[in-house]
Amino acid sequence: MNLPTTGKSKKLSASSFDDLPEAVRETDVASPISKRPARWVVVAAAAIVGLVGLILGIRALQNNSSPIVTVPPNATASPPPNTDRVLGHYTYTEAPEKELESISADGGIKLRTAAARAYTAMVAAAQADGVSIGVLSGFRSIKEQEGLFFEVKQERSQSVTDRANVSAPPGHSEHHTGYAIDMGDGNVPATNLSPDFENTAAFKWLESNAAKYSFELSFPKNNIQGVTYEPWHWRFVGDRTSLETFFKARGK
Ligand SMILES: [Zn+2]
Repeated sequence: MNLPTTGKSKKLSASSFDDLPEAVRETDVASPISKRPARWVVVAAAAIVGLVGLILGIRALQNNSSPIVTVPPNATASPPPNTDRVLGHYTYTEAPEKELESISADGGIKLRTAAARAYTAMVAAAQADGVSIGVLSGFRSIKEQEGLFFEVKQERSQSVTDRANVSAPPGHSEHHTGYAIDMGDGNVPATNLSPDFENTAAFKWLESNAAKYSFELSFPKNNIQGVTYEPWHWRFVGDRTSLETFFKARGK
């Protein structure tokens, strides 16, 4: 029979202790009992480990009927790859035709109703401040974007990566949503769709006032999407659908 090696030997009566051969007694004394965990500590720890294991097991069974997968302790959680992006541009669906409203004099440029109304109010406010803001582009269909992306890419002999830095691939333009708009300064048309637009009175006015009308710059300098800075391209984020359109897919 094995001799007890933990606290139990403490409980040996003096007589049974005396009955042990001397060599065994010395061994016992040489390994101080006080430095070993008391038996109740070991039992309590085992009970806690068992209980936690039981709870986790039950939860796993409740959440998923598939077998419990053991994750190695050093495994780090990494987010799933974002398959919703192509060359830095998110996927967008076309706005329904019936929700589009004209914002240009000739009726050719349209935005989704909420954005169109906010834009009209914004332009009037700018005009009252002596600033001329004009629209260059609004809603664009996926078909139109196809031409813009591939035909211009071919004309300029650009790689898809270079093209995507300045134009979204079809199906991935914010313009499909009817919430995005390209604006220019009516007094300085030479800066249309150019980084120089940031030096115009129109841009400076937008920087200070656009948020009031729920417009924000989509591609500011050093944006996380890696798209070239576009001071002329703004998007409407003033209702539930527009917010969800722009932020849901990117986990914000
Ligand atoms: Zn644009």
